[in-house]
Amino acid sequence: MEQPSNRSFNLAEGLADKKRQHLYRKRLEVESPQGAEIQIDGRSYHNFCSNDYLGLANHPELVRSFQAAANTYGVGSGASHLINGHSSAHQNLELELAEFTGRDRALLFSTGYMANLGVISALCGRHDVVFEDRLNHASLIDAAQLSRAKLKRYRHNDAAHLETLLENSTGQRNLVVTDGVFSMDGDIAPMPELASACAKHQAWLMVDDAHGIGFLGKDGGGTLQQFGQSQQDVPILMGTLGKALGTFGAFIAGSEELIETLIQNARTYIYTTALPPAVAQATRTSLQLLKTESWRQQHLAQLISSFRKGAEQLGLNLMPSNTPIQPLYIGEASAAMKISEQLRQQGFLISAIRPPTVPAGTSRLRITLTAGHSQQQINALLEALQQACKTTS
Ligand SMILES: *Cc1c(COP(=O)(O)O)cnc(C)c1O
Repeated sequence: MEQPSNRSFNLAEGLADKKRQHLYRKRLEVESPQGAEIQIDGRSYHNFCSNDYLGLANHPELVRSFQAAANTYGVGSGASHLINGHSSAHQNLELELAEFTGRDRALLFSTGYMANLGVISALCGRHDVVFEDRLNHASLIDAAQLSRAKLKRYRHNDAAHLETLLENSTGQRNLVVTDGVFSMDGDIAPMPELASACAKHQAWLMVDDAHGIGFLGKDGGGTLQQFGQSQQDVPILMGTLGKALGTFGAFIAGSEELIETLIQNARTYIYTTALPPAVAQATRTSLQLLKTESWRQQHLAQLISSFRKGAEQLGLNLMPSNTPIQPLYIGEASAAMKISEQLRQQGFLISAIRPPTVPAGTSRLRITLTAGHSQQQINALLEALQQACKTTS
């Protein structure tokens, strides 16, 4: 008997659809380390799309400590943390991350995606409610779904809307989750307002600070350091190591009880291989470099402010942001693709961010600045953006 056609996997049709909608994604093949300039297909590009905000990914001291740790520990960790993959490099990094974030303890995860899945699914279940900002990172949305809690989304950075939802919540326990710095927008969550809404309704607050750690706050301690919020104000802090810290992996920081609960219950912690110890060791060097090379944060802050000033003079439609993420609003996916392509021909690498990463009709160029950039590069970028926006509009 013939099967109904809708039961087959018609992949070709799905792919063709993506292409028609200008939503098809392709990968670049990078031939050099990350940096302000990168090499692709034998050509050098000004790189304005990495998350290597402090320019540490290829820092010689990071490379040296990674190599030295590979000599000491080898490459693979060989097992999960709970079997025997937890090395003294991991242990020391956890102690240092706890101190760095001003929390009782920290726990390493293999990626930020896994940290988010692990913590939310370990803490919440069917009778609970997870409240999330509408623009939260995909991993946080997936985490709530995996936990089987009810997911409620509040309007972007709208603590009053969150309060209304909390007031009407029938959840046994309520967990509120926000990006610290929004990954595709660059703006910062109103943490004090969110914390007071949570305090009023006995909800717990979690921040995903993938883009705040390393840049925001006096010591690069992130969004919570910038707002002066303690472990009591925001009990769950997630940070990643693969962005400003220049390595790979992630951590959760919080109370002794939180961390022990995760070690016992977080499935993405328990059932996966520990990070290579050399990655942990290199990250310890990143934490040192935050202190000894604090010029990186200062230089980056200067570039951000000069870029914004220049863009304003040119009438470019930058979205409001004081972080290294400086999106230029375009609207349609096809237009964003076209401008990104034209910039690429001129030697500027800037990615077009399209649905489903951002809501339909809000495609944008996600420009990221790093401490590795020079003022000359910023000037050249502004000129190229002006040209590209003029010729494609
Ligand atoms: C990058 C990112 C993650 C995922 O971290 P990985 O370590 O890359 O898996 C999670 N949340 C936010 C907001 C991010 O930007």
